[in-house]
Amino acid sequence: MKIATVVGARPQFVKMGPLSRLFKKKFQEIVIHTGQHYDDNLSKVFFKELNLFKPKYNLGIKAASDISQISLMISALEKVFIKERPDLVLTYGDTNSSLACALTSSKLNLSLAHVEAGVRAFDRNVPEENNRFIIDRFSTLLFCPTKSAVRNLKNEGIKNGVFYTGDVMAEVLRENLEQKLSSSGKVLEECLTGGSSRIGTVHGGYILVTLHRQENVAAPRGRENLKEIVNALMGFKGRLIFPMHPRTRKNLKRFKLWQKLISRDSITILEPQGYLNFLGLEKNADKILTDSGGVQKEAHLLRVPCITLRKTTEWPETLENGWNRLVPCKRDAILSALKSSLRPGLHKNIFGSRKASEKIFKIITSWLRKR
Ligand code: UDP
Repeated sequence: MKIATVVGARPQFVKMGPLSRLFKKKFQEIVIHTGQHYDDNLSKVFFKELNLFKPKYNLGIKAASDISQISLMISALEKVFIKERPDLVLTYGDTNSSLACALTSSKLNLSLAHVEAGVRAFDRNVPEENNRFIIDRFSTLLFCPTKSAVRNLKNEGIKNGVFYTGDVMAEVLRENLEQKLSSSGKVLEECLTGGSSRIGTVHGGYILVTLHRQENVAAPRGRENLKEIVNALMGFKGRLIFPMHPRTRKNLKRFKLWQKLISRDSITILEPQGYLNFLGLEKNADKILTDSGGVQKEAHLLRVPCITLRKTTEWPETLENGWNRLVPCKRDAILSALKSSLRPGLHKNIFGSRKASEKIFKIITSWLRKR
């Protein structure tokens, strides 16, 4: 039995390890990397650090716009699927690579499994929301990370093939934290120092910043948002550690905000970090300021208060009891969130039991047997 796994972006590399290792025991898994994220810091480092199997295909697709990217992916995936004839295609999350994978599978009449199905922000202005919606419509097996994701699908009339499994990203985080925890329960120094001496051995006393969403950093709408964010960071006096996405760096320079930001005291701007370094930075932060989906989730799992620069979130449970807060991209609102002492309340386990991958593997195995 052959499974074709399609990935292309950083959060997908983070999620894929546990299931790939299980597949190896029983099936032939072919990993197809679309090339959506090609920068070594956003791609290669994860394959090395998380011991992921090397993709059989790297489609190397670099495109100027979303539409040309998706259409190039579709025609490249078509060729690979026709050649490989997989029994099942699998993808993770809501990226353009997942969307192209869903459309191609559907046209070729191949069954699709979607890990992270049913996740919704109820905001069709967010490009990923449309991707999620479409991918779930073309999926045969829908693996939901949360109970609300199951409810969302039910409300959209999707009931067959829906399974509540818990979250694979949470599983990866727990596994890696465990491996990196010393007996005293502290994250090993290597999480903070490995590969980047500039990070130093920082334990608390800083806010971790990540930014990369189109609407916050790229023209046209992102131009204004990025200005507001930089102004807020300039107005805040505390220490900031900012592993910066290449798109954000490029646009800060393009919008002439770069010099201003780097002139600020107590800011450490880093290249995008490998997973373990980043996990260490998240774990030890006083707060996290982000617009990432996965980082909101990880902040919650690590019990670090999170400020999310978005109008909506696909992880609404993280907002409960103040662990995560949605803040508009306005200088004063961001500044006040950065300064406020966030005191979250009761912490609930939102993302399910630890072995989401085993549940998914069992369901896939039994589904493939019955085919
Ligand atoms: N991440 C990382 N290094 C960084 C920033 C993020 O390893 O410098 C990881 C993070 O731990 C999480 C994932 O990347 O697992 C989130 O990906 P991203 O923010 O790119 O995408 P999103 O989750 O918003 O789709």
